[in-house]
Amino acid sequence: MSKTGYFTHRDCRKHEMGPGHPECPERLDAIEDRLLVSGLDLALTRLEAPLASVEEMELAHGRMHLAALRGLSASLQEEVEAGGPSYAHVDPDTAMNVHSWNAILRGAGAAMAATDAVMAGELENAFCAIRPPGHHACRDKAMGFCFVNNVALAAKYAVERHGLKRVAIADFDVHHGNGTEDIVADDERILMVSIYQHPFYPHGGARPDTDTMVNVPVPAYTKGMAVRELIEVLWMPRLEAFKPEMIFISAGFDAHREDDLGQLGLVEADYAWITERLKGVARRFSKGRIVSCLEGGYNLSALGRSVEAHLRALADV
Ligand SMILES: [Zn+2]
Repeated sequence: MSKTGYFTHRDCRKHEMGPGHPECPERLDAIEDRLLVSGLDLALTRLEAPLASVEEMELAHGRMHLAALRGLSASLQEEVEAGGPSYAHVDPDTAMNVHSWNAILRGAGAAMAATDAVMAGELENAFCAIRPPGHHACRDKAMGFCFVNNVALAAKYAVERHGLKRVAIADFDVHHGNGTEDIVADDERILMVSIYQHPFYPHGGARPDTDTMVNVPVPAYTKGMAVRELIEVLWMPRLEAFKPEMIFISAGFDAHREDDLGQLGLVEADYAWITERLKGVARRFSKGRIVSCLEGGYNLSALGRSVEAHLRALADV
């Protein structure tokens, strides 16, 4: 059994938000294609994402938020059966179809199952190829293509259910992980380090840093080398001082220079470098434990290549 897990589920492909939407099922196909063509799939342990329970998801979300999503899904089901519209919108860019609720449960389930497997020592680290993404989902609000915050949930799960005292979240998506910040900012057991284009959607990330919140806003057109320098200077000392027992990654690949949803200039080698640096911290302090979850990344070719680079670093191949 390979020490790097790859969690996914076909239900995650069935969630879609309408023709032409960038957060589309083909994103997962692009990743799968790249893993097959490169032979990297042979170096990974493929695992089915289980369904999360609502009770588990309450570690990161309010009961009303989860009930509202489930209710929206149920009423959409009835409307579709009656010949009504196929989508229920929660914001102009974010909608559910009849399969979305199951995809949400699989995404959250993947993040927690990956945490369990890594904590049990069955895997050293794991990547969750899941959608919808999660890092804009706040405790009580769905937004920005996100409904439930997979990474924040897994971090809460690690401290609440596995008893870890310190875990870190690293977010390198081009957009600020406002939802993750909303859920973990007041939890001193969770350090969040992030780097993102600013000013930009979702127009947060301007809060002053705290002992457990390291926000690194960068202007549009910043290139990979500059991002690496900022990570080296602003993330690494904080991660090393915090000594996390486990690291979670919000792995968004929309800061790639070919991605039209952002204007940063990262390339595959930058994702490999960031992953290696996080692995170094994990090796020193966390028994190598890393759980990474897919967030953004909308240029299909660049997404496939970037996930391959990320996974090669995680799996040492
Ligand atoms: Zn993004």
